[in-house]
Amino acid sequence: MYCGRFAPTPSGRLHLGSLLSAAGAYLRALQAGGRCLLRLEDLDRPRCKAEYAGSIIADLKTLGFAFPEPVLIQSTDLDPYAQAVETLIHSGQAFVCACSRRAIREHPCTCRELHLPYKRGRAIRLQCSAALRDFTDERLGRIHVPLIPDSLILKRSDGIYSYNLACVVDDLRQGVTEVVRGSDLIASTPLQIYLYELLGAKAPRFLHLPLITARGGGKLSKQNHAAPILSRYQPSEAILLVLKLLGQDTRGLEGVTPAEIWPQAAQRFDLNAIARHDIEID
Ligand code: GLU
Repeated sequence: MYCGRFAPTPSGRLHLGSLLSAAGAYLRALQAGGRCLLRLEDLDRPRCKAEYAGSIIADLKTLGFAFPEPVLIQSTDLDPYAQAVETLIHSGQAFVCACSRRAIREHPCTCRELHLPYKRGRAIRLQCSAALRDFTDERLGRIHVPLIPDSLILKRSDGIYSYNLACVVDDLRQGVTEVVRGSDLIASTPLQIYLYELLGAKAPRFLHLPLITARGGGKLSKQNHAAPILSRYQPSEAILLVLKLLGQDTRGLEGVTPAEIWPQAAQRFDLNAIARHDIEID
């Protein structure tokens, strides 16, 4: 059965870009007769706040999404990430690294040969130069990612498990069959596919959505303070706006309640109507 997910990082309130990802993931799942899970990627404690996690969950509810309970909140159980890192160390793929970020920029890291013991202040990295640079996107077709790093952080020197590791571990244990997310994560996809392979698992399908950019100003994100979507729009207005940005036919959906828009929009959801490039807005 189809299983999708929406996996926001609670480092700010829900904005237009994240709503677009949520909409894409949710519609795809509804259309396939499957489910779409919600996961809060809050491992980067310094960037995340409990109040944002609460507001994202509340805003999604107001916007008519019905995600299955319980919601996976990454920070509540670190064991699965620790186990995956253990597995990768045992198989010789991951290694303890004592280099600072600066040192890595200046000369290649040779820690893999040193078999250093783990201690706080040291990172755990994965050798990933053997990762393939190509993958197939369900919407965009074959994608080539030109630059792949030699190694990928699994656990940072401050003890925080990395996004790539946690994302793969969770998509795997949650049984996700298709990952729908923004195109800003395209560069991570080959690395994640490689991680699945090393963990002896089959990677899900991937579908990347266009990014929303401010005219003349780059990607909208929580970092550049894209406005919280519900501070600017009524819930139904916000939903119609993202459906239009996704190129979807919204005729007859005006005046429909948020919870009822989604199933109706899913019935007519047309993947081919979504732009193949970033979407510029004023
Ligand atoms: N947590 C990531 C973000 O908010 C998304 C990760 C993903 O969908 O794989 O940008």
